[in-house]
Amino acid sequence: MSKLAHIKAVNKKYNIFTSIRAPSKTPVDEFASFSPLFNTTYAIKDNFTTRNEPTTCSSLMLSNYKSPFDSTVVTLLNQSGSQCIGKTNMDEFGMGNSTTSSYFGPTLNSLYPQTESLFIDYEEVIFSTKDIGDENGEFISSDIVEGIKEGYTVNKYYVPKLNRDEKGKVIFNNIDSRQRITGGSSGGSATAVGLDLVDFAIGSDTGGSVRLPACYNNIYGFKPTYGRISRWGLVAYAQSLDTVGIMSKEVDTIWKVFSTLDLADSKDPTSLSDSCREEIAIERINSKKNVGKKFKIGIPIEYKFNELSEDIKQSWEKLLNKLKENKLIEIISISIPSVKYSLPAYYTLVTSEASSNLSRYDGNRYGFRTEDYEGEEPEFRFNRDKAFGEEVKRRILLGNYSLSSYGYDNNYKKASNVRRLLIEEFNKVFRDKHCLMEKKQLTNANGIDLMIVPTSVNLPKLINEGNGDIVEGYMNDVCTIPMSLAGLPTMNISFENFGFQIVGQHGQDYKVLEFTRLVN
Ligand code: GLN
Repeated sequence: MSKLAHIKAVNKKYNIFTSIRAPSKTPVDEFASFSPLFNTTYAIKDNFTTRNEPTTCSSLMLSNYKSPFDSTVVTLLNQSGSQCIGKTNMDEFGMGNSTTSSYFGPTLNSLYPQTESLFIDYEEVIFSTKDIGDENGEFISSDIVEGIKEGYTVNKYYVPKLNRDEKGKVIFNNIDSRQRITGGSSGGSATAVGLDLVDFAIGSDTGGSVRLPACYNNIYGFKPTYGRISRWGLVAYAQSLDTVGIMSKEVDTIWKVFSTLDLADSKDPTSLSDSCREEIAIERINSKKNVGKKFKIGIPIEYKFNELSEDIKQSWEKLLNKLKENKLIEIISISIPSVKYSLPAYYTLVTSEASSNLSRYDGNRYGFRTEDYEGEEPEFRFNRDKAFGEEVKRRILLGNYSLSSYGYDNNYKKASNVRRLLIEEFNKVFRDKHCLMEKKQLTNANGIDLMIVPTSVNLPKLINEGNGDIVEGYMNDVCTIPMSLAGLPTMNISFENFGFQIVGQHGQDYKVLEFTRLVN
């Protein structure tokens, strides 16, 4: 069976991809053969723009949207000779932690059995880049382009033909009753890695969307420091927290991908500057003095959440004991009091940012346009009502409230204060300097190197049970959110079927990677 046929067959069972790319006939740039990623394959979450196929964010709103430009991540990976095989399914606009809120139906978990196909067939789509603009993303009328350039790239991709009920919801009748949610929102990326369809996958992590699905699929999932990998071309959910994450079964692959993408980008105003990166690199060289010494590992008492299952608690202790026995670590109990308030602070901030970011989708400039519009009310109201799912609408409403004159002081400002306090508390416990803070503000010479805490409070729920009620669903993010609010580099590793996070100070991505390699 060809590689493409295999991917299509597996996808029929697990519903991983929103589109599968036909293998490229264009030879890869010969310079790429020097790259450590040469000849690898990857999948990318469908909220990164690509010119070869639509960028849907798993929403009806963008189901036909084709971007005129590739995201920076895609450009760099293409230059490094890695082949993209498809775009992966996700919670709509990245809002969720189960990949069940996708307009294209749920993705299933790679660790649980699924023998039946969920859908029967694919549609083959062929389009030319002439339909979407030139390679710099500038829209030029096709007649003008025709005159100055000859030949366009012709792309081919495959999309599942899905059955829908009268409300437009996907119907999959044959899901195995043992199937569990794959986690989210980068669930398609995690399942693709879990089932060995690719060497690595790209996801986005705003509050845990790479780490939680990695944890539920027993793979590595790395969320770098905020600002280290360019967000250019990543459709914004909550831009002050959005990061680009990497998933793989091999730490070394994550290392290689991270070092390929770890570049300043003038197209992303929040990308860390070259001087800041240089400072981090110098500190890294200086810290080599500590090689051979034990890592000081902080365990925040606030992470002993009531919701944490007994099994995970025991496994956490076992992991720490194992590392102690191997003389790798020394354990220090620490306190980060604001962890307790992180979940409500996060949901106030992300919904506020999301309500503002999603206001651009009105069906006129972007996205879905209803055909049965009539009446006096503005047309965008109809478009948005039809094309956004329940969860997206809920968040737009919550965000609008927090940004209104009633909600601003009570919600938004308080949440921002919690975030500021949280960052200060992290700065007090870490030995390394936060790479964006002044030297004199810190540092704690006796501080910790890393923290090790669980990634989730429980095993993934059965897919038939859904993700519990709404607040229960939000609760599943309790372990991953503090690092997102503070922008800290964090790696999910698996131990005894559970996921644990290795967390470093802002800018200490390589320390996290090095430690993960040691534990491996
Ligand atoms: N589950 C969280 C949310 O719904 C995180 C999502 C993400 O990281 N994109 O906001």
